[in-house]
Amino acid sequence: MNNKFVIAIDGPAASGKSTTAKQLAIKLKYIYIDTGAMYRASGLCTLLQNISLDDEAALKEMLDKISIRIEYEEDGNKIFLNEEDVTERIREADITKLSSQIAVIGMVRKKMVELQRKIGENGGVIMDGRDIGTVVFPNADFKFFMIADVKTRALRRWEETKEKGESITLEEIEEELIWRDKNDTTREISPLRQADDAIPVDTSKMSINEQVQFIYNKIK
Ligand code: C5P
Repeated sequence: MNNKFVIAIDGPAASGKSTTAKQLAIKLKYIYIDTGAMYRASGLCTLLQNISLDDEAALKEMLDKISIRIEYEEDGNKIFLNEEDVTERIREADITKLSSQIAVIGMVRKKMVELQRKIGENGGVIMDGRDIGTVVFPNADFKFFMIADVKTRALRRWEETKEKGESITLEEIEEELIWRDKNDTTREISPLRQADDAIPVDTSKMSINEQVQFIYNKIK
């Protein structure tokens, strides 16, 4: 297998992107980059530094100094914000919402895209997100767009939260997904959409193994 490909996987939250991308990366011996984690880390940074999303000057200063570092590990990447391990913290509900709010801001996107292009410039990378095939790597060697109906996605997330011992209802998760889908698809800059040359993958009725195998077969 060519070890230089750039593989873009986009789609809405809980459509199966990260689980699939992670396993595919192991199979292909590629680096896996979860770009959502980068928006989450930026959102957390505003919270830690008490910066309002409307304060352009403070945001700019924050972005000029921000360091987001990803350590690649087979059982999941570690994310460091300004050298602090924030892997767990960025998965909490307040940051989930904040990440989608900060992701509408042009200068934030510009900075994240810059970092993502740098990480992927030598290929051998699977990147998942919302705008990888449309904006970050429009010339990616392979593009996939994963979708699943909202009930299936909510159930998947709910099961994950139960495993972690969090108490959130299925209805709350579904509401949050609908809110995020709307926010991500209707924003002005780089909205979530399928690239014209992306291969759609509806994971509603697929197991994780089937998702991984489907993409693997296309690449092979
Ligand atoms: O993928 P994840 O759910 O962790 O992403 C968190 C948020 O970051 C998304 O709801 C979206 O608003 C934003 N995001 C984005 N572009 C990306 C990845 C994530 O706008 N490439």
